Amino acid sequence: CGIIGFIGNDALANILNGLELLEYRGYDSAGLAVRRNSECQSVIYKCQGRVSDLREIAPSNADFSCGIGHTRWATHGGVSDKNAHPHKSGKVTLVHNGIIENYALLKEEFELEDKLVSETDTEVVAALIDKFYKGNPKEAIKRTIKKLKGTFAFVIMFDDIPDTIFAVRNVSPIVVAKTDEQTILASDPAALYAYAKEYYVLGEDLFLTMTPSGYTVEDFDENPVEVQLTKVDWEVSA
Ligand code: GLU
Repeated sequence: CGIIGFIGNDALANILNGLELLEYRGYDSAGLAVRRNSECQSVIYKCQGRVSDLREIAPSNADFSCGIGHTRWATHGGVSDKNAHPHKSGKVTLVHNGIIENYALLKEEFELEDKLVSETDTEVVAALIDKFYKGNPKEAIKRTIKKLKGTFAFVIMFDDIPDTIFAVRNVSPIVVAKTDEQTILASDPAALYAYAKEYYVLGEDLFLTMTPSGYTVEDFDENPVEVQLTKVDWEVSA
């Protein structure tokens, strides 16, 4: 399955193109959430099927500046429109690659059942981050992932934090690249080659924060982490 996060002009078109490049990884559903500078909330388009099906339901000429996208390979919850990612709970919108093994226990422990509309392990995590969110996004994410057993790459937006994307991972990969015009994150460097010849591979137990000026990396104590870039050493055709 594939993940894209994008900040820059034409976010929607770039996310759709990126998802298409990742389709070879397998998929049964596709979805995205996009927002504009001036708008607090993101809009979500998602459906069972291919990225070409998602293209049919997404607006064609909308000028969004920030967003996240996902192609799903279902592990928990059947293949359906409502189980497709992104999942939104309260102020939190996210996409996920991986498996949260203890999602049923978390659902019970934190009494999240009433908040859920899908059958996925992923939506439980969105609901838990939202429950812990009191204005500090990193605190809420950190508290949540301390509770998780399993593998994950999470790419997360908050309704009240415009033009910002957060990412954390355990096992499942996340890579990111920056150009003068955009910052793009993906689950596979194949989606970055059209933009940049250098990218950063996010380490585990680190926060990635993307904004219109680029991205920063911190450890869980919020100390900055030096970014070492990986170079693409073959010819790239855009
Ligand atoms: N476990 C999640 C689900 O079934 C994510 C699957 C994936 O990595 O695409 O929705």
